[in-house]
Amino acid sequence: MNERPLSSAVRPSAALLDTRGRVLRDLRISVTDRCNFRCSYCMPKEVFGKDYAYLPRSALLHFEEITRLARLFAAHGVGKIRLTGGEPLLRKGLEQLIAQLAALRTPAGAPLEVTLTTNGSLLQRKASMLREAGLSRLTVSLDSLDDATFRSMNDVDFPVAQVLDGIAAARNAGFERIKVNMVVKRSTNLDDILPMAEHFRGTGVTLRFIEYMDVGATNGWRMDEVVPSAEVIARLQQRFALTPLEPTAPGETAQRWGYANAQGVHDPALGEVGVISSVTRAFCGSCNRARLSTEGQLYLCLFAHQGWDLRRLLRGGSSDAEISAAIARVWGQRQDRYSELRSQGQGDAAATPTATSVQRRRIEMSYIGG
Ligand code: SAM
Ligand code: SF4
Ligand code: SF4
Repeated sequence: MNERPLSSAVRPSAALLDTRGRVLRDLRISVTDRCNFRCSYCMPKEVFGKDYAYLPRSALLHFEEITRLARLFAAHGVGKIRLTGGEPLLRKGLEQLIAQLAALRTPAGAPLEVTLTTNGSLLQRKASMLREAGLSRLTVSLDSLDDATFRSMNDVDFPVAQVLDGIAAARNAGFERIKVNMVVKRSTNLDDILPMAEHFRGTGVTLRFIEYMDVGATNGWRMDEVVPSAEVIARLQQRFALTPLEPTAPGETAQRWGYANAQGVHDPALGEVGVISSVTRAFCGSCNRARLSTEGQLYLCLFAHQGWDLRRLLRGGSSDAEISAAIARVWGQRQDRYSELRSQGQGDAAATPTATSVQRRRIEMSYIGG
């Protein structure tokens, strides 16, 4: 994988700022590059077939290595960790990692928020275990309630009922504020927007509509397949009264809308929906997220071409202080703002100004973590 040299000539600090004044707050950790689904927008079957070369086991960061890095990130101000992949629930013993991460503390002594994004296929079996291990919150990806559409979108004929059972199991296990992410593709699941909203409205589950993104290099992305969030909201408003809500946290990716009562006021009992407009309304200006790949490469943007090799430091005997300094230095140099550049029509031409001109192939989302 692409690598960049690291220097340790930087003093760690509690809050890291990049070149655009963005603070590091959120770390996404990919725990596996494998998945039991083949969503065409992420791991199309034609590319991720039987012969696809996944990372060997020895390349994966061990739980102790992940926890050590997470502790150093927490010391730098990261308050939230999201486990992702690939399908994170395929990683054996994941609950042990969750327990280790849940035991970490911020410099102020607060626990980290440890969350997970899953396709939900194994949730029914694992929800209680995840909760007991200390997982704070859950996001489940679900693109349709229509069984035929769902089976064709996951492309492994997986039934929607099992994902819904998984969500129910998570609620029974005590998870609150569950989020459901729906990627909308115009030719595929546009008509599922309203049924999904109907289904989750008033249940305590927050549905979020995600614009189909041009991540990776294999999904054959086309702009005419993107359904702009404004169009999603307009569709919803034909059926429901919605009122815009304030963000709950700086750098929040979703724009929130509350279901309103007859007076046009948000009714918390009806809940809310969100839209994540990565294509039509770039939110790079407040992007506080770093990503750690399955094999320990640090990426500063979902659309990055290059990572920084933290595994080499971990396995090469570097001290905590050295790794911590390396993290600070990498974040301090960060310039990434791919979505902003895309919306200015600059796309990949100026995607990562720090990348070299060789190695321009974008990293797949299943490797870098969604
Ligand atoms: N397998 C897990 C899942 O599906 O939830 C976690 C990893 S997946 C890469 C994380 C999220 O990325 C999912 O919600 C998925 O829908 C989203 N995603 C993947 N490819 C995408 C794309 N091209 N555009 C928008 N979202 C995408
Ligand atoms: Fe797997 Fe998630 Fe990608 Fe679908 S979106 S192929 S479930 S990693
Ligand atoms: Fe952050 Fe990169 Fe997405 Fe912009 S394009 S919001 S910098 S991950």
